[in-house]
Amino acid sequence: MSKAIFAEILKEKKLKITPQRIAILEELEKNGHSSVDDIFNGIKLKVPSVSLATVYKNILALQSVDILKSVKTPTHKQKYEINVKPHVHLFCKICENLEDFVINTQDFQEYCKKESGYYCIEEASVLLTGVCRNCAK
Ligand SMILES: [Zn+2]
Ligand SMILES: [Zn+2]
Repeated sequence: MSKAIFAEILKEKKLKITPQRIAILEELEKNGHSSVDDIFNGIKLKVPSVSLATVYKNILALQSVDILKSVKTPTHKQKYEINVKPHVHLFCKICENLEDFVINTQDFQEYCKKESGYYCIEEASVLLTGVCRNCAK
């Protein structure tokens, strides 16, 4: 995605377009799941005046309008990603790498809805833990 598309997304969600917000989205697009520290360290190179508090505040603002999603990992490190299509996460317990795995979570949600006695399910946040291909070698 380009700067213009990110600006368009911010506008659509009625958030002010700022260089920091664009830089956060660019950073996440480049690196995928990232912690606040990862994002901060990446942005500092482009926007040297930025503070960790500003980055954090902007991440929360982007999350509040669903542009970003938070991902909880078993190591309790909070990570963020751009909210794209629904997917589950694969987590490697050795290298702690987080990978996207796109499946149709709609079917899973439908199944859970029926089995739970029609609990109103709004989203599925699924994390599968194991050993990745590299670490299994
Ligand atoms: Zn691994
Ligand atoms: Zn993901």
